[in-house]
Amino acid sequence: MPATMAKTHSILIIEDEPDIIEVLKYNLEKNHYKVATANTGEEGLQTARETLPDLVLLDLMLPGIDGLEVCRRLREDPRTRDLLVIMLTAKGTEADVVVGLTLGADDYIVKPFSTSELMARIKAVLRRVEHREDEGEQDLLKTGPLTIDLRKHQARLSDVVLELTLSEFKLLSFLVRKKGRVFTRDQLLDAVVGPDVFVTARNIDVHVAALRKKLGKYGNCIVTVRGVGYRFEET
Ligand code: CA
Repeated sequence: MPATMAKTHSILIIEDEPDIIEVLKYNLEKNHYKVATANTGEEGLQTARETLPDLVLLDLMLPGIDGLEVCRRLREDPRTRDLLVIMLTAKGTEADVVVGLTLGADDYIVKPFSTSELMARIKAVLRRVEHREDEGEQDLLKTGPLTIDLRKHQARLSDVVLELTLSEFKLLSFLVRKKGRVFTRDQLLDAVVGPDVFVTARNIDVHVAALRKKLGKYGNCIVTVRGVGYRFEET
């Protein structure tokens, strides 16, 4: 038990390769996480329902039902709907990543990954939830020189008020509120215009380009994730 009485988070690994499980388990336990493992999607779903871990590390390539189906079922079940999910994916499977994010996975990491990279990702996802719980529905978002006033519908860069369209404002506040997290173009469209409006996902690219221009030097905070979508990153 670490000296600081921080909450011990529990992590469920759903993965079929014994070597990877072993390495993950060793490193997670060394970092004071409580670890459970499952070798198949079915077993993983059952363990998730029974133990309700704080976070699930979900391999996408599993025998039987695959990781995407596991993710779908986790999100469908009210008991497991809010569990954090980080997908473990192979290089070149961006299409699966897009589906996984659309199904509600919180993040993904591409194999092979370093232990430090994985630990950083896990901490970031857990931290985001704690923030979410702390912040609730606040009116003011601040990141770097950027301040977003949700009540006034106004964004400022240092002292300069940005001239944004309604869509640009919605997109920016959505990304900033969930900074660090990757979203697909469809998810961003839903956030900005709602699911019922018919526009193509490429419209998001146009909004992003306009936003970046208006943000000037700070525009590179909106990061393009190749083959997947966009993420806001603090510089
Ligand atoms: Ca696998």
